[in-house]
Amino acid sequence: MLANKTALVTGSTSGIGLGIAKALARQGANIVLNGFGDAAGPQAEIAAMGVRVGYHGADMSKPAEIEAMMAYAAAEFGQVDILVNNAGIQHVSRIEDFPVERWDAIMAINLSSAFHTTRLALPAMRATNWGRIINVASVHGLVGSADKSAYVAAKHGVVGLTKVTALETAATGVTCNAICPGWVLTPLVQKQVDAKAAALGISNEDAKKQLLGEKEPSMQFTTPGELGELAVFFCSAAGNNVRGVAWNMDGGWVAQ
Ligand code: NAD
Repeated sequence: MLANKTALVTGSTSGIGLGIAKALARQGANIVLNGFGDAAGPQAEIAAMGVRVGYHGADMSKPAEIEAMMAYAAAEFGQVDILVNNAGIQHVSRIEDFPVERWDAIMAINLSSAFHTTRLALPAMRATNWGRIINVASVHGLVGSADKSAYVAAKHGVVGLTKVTALETAATGVTCNAICPGWVLTPLVQKQVDAKAAALGISNEDAKKQLLGEKEPSMQFTTPGELGELAVFFCSAAGNNVRGVAWNMDGGWVAQ
């Protein structure tokens, strides 16, 4: 379905980004990976699916590095047809204790990076009159939770940016939508499980149950693979006129 398309997924060396990259590769898209840590493993895994794969290690908090990544993708793959803004970090703390540099980093990585990649990807998408921009927001783009001020503010910002991007491209073949996951058991959430287990002196399994029990009636984590299939849907012809939605996949979190 996506043969001859190129997808760039930020923060795709692990977790949800890697799950989305694999789902798009399964549909035949070439993939540009980005993120920190081990890139060789994910690169080999995706290459084995028979598509072209590239990697750029740009730090999403740095606009100049984002520009270099977009230039690399254009030079190596022609253009970015599918842009998945996924890179993100978390910090959990009350507002009055929130480290200022963590606030700035979360705003830069979770929100501003999507502005930069989008502004740089749009001209080529408009020129071919086809494109998909998928912003990985969060249920925290729709509702709040205590102690996550920067994350919730940034993710609400991502949902807003998604709507504006969708409106500015509404009469074209470019669409922009957001995915809003609930709990997904990635390294980002494992840290929160570990913190809860340590704070309450309980086992890892009990900490997971508590975390789910606070928010998700399904008592199940959403998986990167399931989120990847939602991204595939947005890229399909059925998604041609899906514009500016913030689609939660969250075990009932925001239905309450
Ligand atoms: P993760 O920690 O497994 O992966 C994050 C990825 O982003 C990694 O590849 C990491 O290297 C990369 N990254 C971090 N900082 C970066 C930077 N400055 N520049 C470039 N890459 C950077 O986390 P995840 O849970 O897969 O999160 C992915 C996205 O999904 C994030 O935007 C997160 O907010 C969102 N999300 C996660 C959950 C969840 O429950 N895990 C829920 C809702 C939304």
